[in-house]
Amino acid sequence: MNISKNSVVSFHYKLSNNEGEILDSSEGREAFTYLQGTQMIVPGLEAQMEGKGKGDKFKAVVAPELGYGEFNKDLLQQVPLDRFGEQKVEAGMQFQAGEHSVVTVREVKDGQVLVDGNHPLAGVTLNFDVEVTDVREATKEELAHGHVHGEGGHQH
Ligand code: ZN
Repeated sequence: MNISKNSVVSFHYKLSNNEGEILDSSEGREAFTYLQGTQMIVPGLEAQMEGKGKGDKFKAVVAPELGYGEFNKDLLQQVPLDRFGEQKVEAGMQFQAGEHSVVTVREVKDGQVLVDGNHPLAGVTLNFDVEVTDVREATKEELAHGHVHGEGGHQH
């Protein structure tokens, strides 16, 4: 069967930027499994998955606006260093800010911390090498829960 809304899809991938640097890869791991149509993967990749089948290998180039978003300067913020208390703060550190977002420390200077609320891959064109390893229909239960059960999914 071909991938369409409510397909359970397993795939291996290699993700690189336009400079050819590998940013992420499923190599050495289990294939990534998701439910098509639920935006569990970036929209630009989900769209290009549509119609593909088991065994298909393809390249998907995803622009930032269909990936992790454009880089937003408004998400850069100066925070006084003393707000971090005793905690050691250095450029490159990441902090949880709320339930779903992570901020990255860009710079510590003159008692101020420059924090960046952009996704680490914001503004990056994503180049995926994809190999679809399995496609099946979601069960009724999976559709009701909105996620995949079993291998590569929720175990409950
Ligand atoms: Zn469930």
